[in-house]
Amino acid sequence: MFQPPRCPYRTCSKHLEPTPEAFIRHGHYRPKCRPHPVPRFRCRACRRTFSRQTFRMDYRDHRPDLNARLFRSIASGLGLRQSSRNLRLSLRCTELKFRKIARHLRRLNLNLRAELPSGSSFQLDEFETFEGRRNTRPLTIPMLIEKQSHFIVWAESATIRPRGTMTKARKAAMAEDEKRFGRRRDCSRRSLRRTLERGAELVSSRKAVLFETDQKTSYVGLAKEVFGSNRLVHGRTSSRLPRTVANPLFAINHTEAMARDLMGRLRRESWLVSKARRYLDLGLQIFMAYRNLVRRRFNQDEFSSAEMLGFAPRRLTETEVLGWRQDWGERSQHPLAA
Ligand SMILES: [Zn+2]
Repeated sequence: MFQPPRCPYRTCSKHLEPTPEAFIRHGHYRPKCRPHPVPRFRCRACRRTFSRQTFRMDYRDHRPDLNARLFRSIASGLGLRQSSRNLRLSLRCTELKFRKIARHLRRLNLNLRAELPSGSSFQLDEFETFEGRRNTRPLTIPMLIEKQSHFIVWAESATIRPRGTMTKARKAAMAEDEKRFGRRRDCSRRSLRRTLERGAELVSSRKAVLFETDQKTSYVGLAKEVFGSNRLVHGRTSSRLPRTVANPLFAINHTEAMARDLMGRLRRESWLVSKARRYLDLGLQIFMAYRNLVRRRFNQDEFSSAEMLGFAPRRLTETEVLGWRQDWGERSQHPLAA
């Protein structure tokens, strides 16, 4: 029997300090998309009503039955159009579902983390892609992981300046873009810092922070600033070494390769394209949730990355990940709550 964990209205006193007797049953309703009636409740403090659905991620969805299938489909490298064909859903509905699911998973990713256990270390690398137009709108994606568990701490995209061979056609395309959007800015440093700060949040009480990267010079100063130069232990590996299992940066290389495979829009020679950077960032959150919470760390492993770090008691299913809403920060219900 479902008991409301709190009043869902943020302004109500029973939102922050709920008591079991604060909520009384208030009938039920029968949604078209579910076989069972959904119980309704009334809050004694603010007199407002709500239902069990108010606490669910699929609140107000018309086709909640497709959410887990869409998540699995996107996390397996399919594009939005092909997913919409498979699910017999319109492209627009699929896009809106994708955004809602991804924004939910972004909150879940941030809620389901804590201080890293001792002995853990970070690896960082950047990889490149583009938005909309390959030769004029390149992007960089800094990605930070925990080395042993392959847990992805953060990844986000940032615009960079086009570089490399400049043909006449490319220069013309760049001039055209510049007229439309203004000069393309290099925001890589800012997003690198944000990514490292996500890591610093997880090691605030640590005496030493182990951090491994390639030999790009800008990482040195930035890591010192973010982690503190007195506790930073920075290992640097040449990116010329063969990218094998023996490479010290194997964990991050492996995670990047998996991201390229499981996010169709990052594949090379693919028809899939990120039209706008913000939706690539949402796609990254879906990949992170799948990689950290749902998938095994390696094929022969029983555990997920989050499980290895103690952030989750077991591997979660796609349905569990898309269960309770997560927009109340620490007050949100755990995905495995009854
Ligand atoms: Zn209330």
